[in-house]
Amino acid sequence: MILQTDIQFVPGVGPKRAGILNKELDLFTLGDLLRYYPYRYIDRSRIYYIHEIDGSMPYIQLKGRITAFETFGEGRKRRLVAHFTDGTGFIDLVWFQGIRYVENRYKVNQEYIVFGKPTLFNNRWNIAHPDIDPYMSEADRPDGLMAMYNTTEKMKEHSLNSKAMQKIIGNALGMVKGRLEETLSADVVKMANLIPFHDAIENIHFPKNPLLLRDAEFRLKFEELFFIQLNIVRYAADRKARLNGFLFSRVGKYLNTFYRKHLPFELTQAQKRVIKEIRKDTASGKQMNRLLQGDVGSGKTLVAVMCMLIAMDNGFQSCLMAPTEILAAQHFETFSRLLSELKVNVALLTGSTKKRERQEIHAGLLTGDIDILIGTHALIEDEVQFRNLGFVVIDEQHRFGVAQRAKLWTKSEHPPHVLVMTATPIPRTLAMTLYGDLDLSVIDELPPGRKPVKTVHRYDKNRGALYQFIREQIGARRQAYIVYPLIEESETLDLKNLEEGFLHIREAFPEFTVCKMHGRMKPAEKEEVMRQFVNNQAQIMVSTTVIEVGVNVPNASVMVIESAQRFGLSQLHQLRGRVGRGADQSYCILITPYELSADTRKRMEIMTESNDGFVIAEADLKLRGPGDLEGTQQSGIPFNLRIADLVRDNAILYRAREIAETIIADDPKLSQPQHLVLKQQLSRLGGNRYDWGRIS
Ligand code: ADP
Ligand code: MG
Repeated sequence: MILQTDIQFVPGVGPKRAGILNKELDLFTLGDLLRYYPYRYIDRSRIYYIHEIDGSMPYIQLKGRITAFETFGEGRKRRLVAHFTDGTGFIDLVWFQGIRYVENRYKVNQEYIVFGKPTLFNNRWNIAHPDIDPYMSEADRPDGLMAMYNTTEKMKEHSLNSKAMQKIIGNALGMVKGRLEETLSADVVKMANLIPFHDAIENIHFPKNPLLLRDAEFRLKFEELFFIQLNIVRYAADRKARLNGFLFSRVGKYLNTFYRKHLPFELTQAQKRVIKEIRKDTASGKQMNRLLQGDVGSGKTLVAVMCMLIAMDNGFQSCLMAPTEILAAQHFETFSRLLSELKVNVALLTGSTKKRERQEIHAGLLTGDIDILIGTHALIEDEVQFRNLGFVVIDEQHRFGVAQRAKLWTKSEHPPHVLVMTATPIPRTLAMTLYGDLDLSVIDELPPGRKPVKTVHRYDKNRGALYQFIREQIGARRQAYIVYPLIEESETLDLKNLEEGFLHIREAFPEFTVCKMHGRMKPAEKEEVMRQFVNNQAQIMVSTTVIEVGVNVPNASVMVIESAQRFGLSQLHQLRGRVGRGADQSYCILITPYELSADTRKRMEIMTESNDGFVIAEADLKLRGPGDLEGTQQSGIPFNLRIADLVRDNAILYRAREIAETIIADDPKLSQPQHLVLKQQLSRLGGNRYDWGRIS
């Protein structure tokens, strides 16, 4: 296949440059090269004037002449500056490398077209390493849109700049002229109204006009998103067709008794709806795979409890897996308390469970003595086997790797029903991709009487007022968290940061008891500290982010986040969720230095303006891009998409999903001859990685 041709055989590449392209950009074949898309286009028909330049200019071209060359610095610091003017102003052209070459090549007082991105340095406009062409009359100049390619420093050292890349890609296109096969089936091309693959590739690199460029972009974005969706939809359909689930056909004494006698409060409408959705799934005969999204404090735990009671009513065991020991212990307590009157046997298994007890638990699971097992990663160890595990809940799932989830699958002969609960709302576009094969339930309502947390942003110089405020809150019998971030990669330094904070806070509040919590404490110590705080024997908890997920102390009303600039939005939101859990007004105070990047300022603004996890998740996705969001790395999905963008291209994504569903509904196994090409593309893209989806 021509697309598999080694990149070194493309004219203009050769073995040396091939090595660089392999290393720097992961480009190995001619096909890779063709899929190395430009990141922007420059309108070559437009020449700017120097006096028009402002701070927001993209790459532009100027026409003018060099008035003089000057060199500065010595040795490695040497740089060459050419003063350039077009009669409307001056700009400096600057080179740090290849100085001799530039000096020899370009002459003072000749007309040139200069090409690059203007930046302001020491109050002067300059362009570093510009492209320079001799001036040509309009008729001779290449017109229209010119592609710009990302390059690295290493590449530039071997004169592989954007222009060189364009040239090489042009050569590659020459090699495949008339030989590029369609990558999508005719029905998909028709449904999505796409231009042919060949035209798309040609126009993405060498746009004939803006309209064709738009069509090319659409086609390539669509294709990229389509194959991800096709894979998910195909997989989900296959699973539904193949897998029977345990039948939870009845509701019996456990749920009924609980509901009538022990339910501590009215369920919210949203909780009721979600329980109904789960009941419907588990009574369908198919295996349930459901994602439950609900903002912090929305009452997901209660939903899990009630579903497990349904499992018990049908003779099945359940388990709940939590990401931290604190959280597992807390769940264990909640479950034990709620179910204390019901003769339900709940056990807790974590990394620190003693050997003896561990063995007892293993035995109890096998005999069926234990009805509900709560734990951490310890649950997925091999020796944990159940008699009849029917229902699995994974709490705050974004903390679990895919492989870990998949392991739970093997805990019983038959796949159990799976409910994945997350308090980090996932924007719809991302959810469709990350959890595209899961059914989705949403708790979009908080229990009544909750007041939204008031969030403010303060600078760290002004602690007096803050401490006064904390004092007042504690005076009103409330409690406070003060969270310190991970400052360094090194745990020791982080700890130092926390210790210092702890000492400082203890000094500032001699009248109160201050406790502290961090990830490296022994579980028993953590538990003890937690107990102290829950019982209000300590009024202030100084902590690292170990309290980020799940911790529930309704009496705490103040959350102070130190160095808030170091946290991502969803993390800030999670931390804030630790307060506002009771009926009283709660507060979240974000502390940062005065000097902040625009990005951070924006994050602080979003936090003070919104309490809505979904709004925050969308904003987070926009600010950081999908590749950096939690959970995406383990997903195995190529989130570094080449051309599509999950935020900007959501309309294309929805369309791709729809068409993928149509195709799979019509031809679930892609066995029709016309769909052969889709199957081939999927396997080329490594599309079988979705197997893990069985569990989550
Ligand atoms: P999350 O969804 O963050 O896991 P939890 O399940 O921890 O939330 O619930 C948060 C708090 O709300 C708990 O203290 C819980 O007891 C309480 N809660 C849950 N459901 C209700 C309800 N329907 N009415 C009042 N309080 C509730
Ligand atoms: Mg929770």
